[in-house]
Amino acid sequence: MASDPVCQKQVDETNPPGGKVRFWGKLFFFCSEACRSAFRHEPQKFTSETAEGKAPPYSKVPDDWRS
Ligand SMILES: [Zn+2]
Repeated sequence: MASDPVCQKQVDETNPPGGKVRFWGKLFFFCSEACRSAFRHEPQKFTSETAEGKAPPYSKVPDDWRS
């Protein structure tokens, strides 16, 4: 199972109800179209939380790159 980065729900990554989005080389899975849409509007908002919490190693890079 994967976590929906928007609402933190557990999503089956083999059949995500909201589809998936690739961002910073990582795939994100969504529980609904609404969550996917929210993510696509402001991906940094959700992936920065992921970086603090679950910390995919490369998610720190864009922060450094922007600053
Ligand atoms: Zn969701």
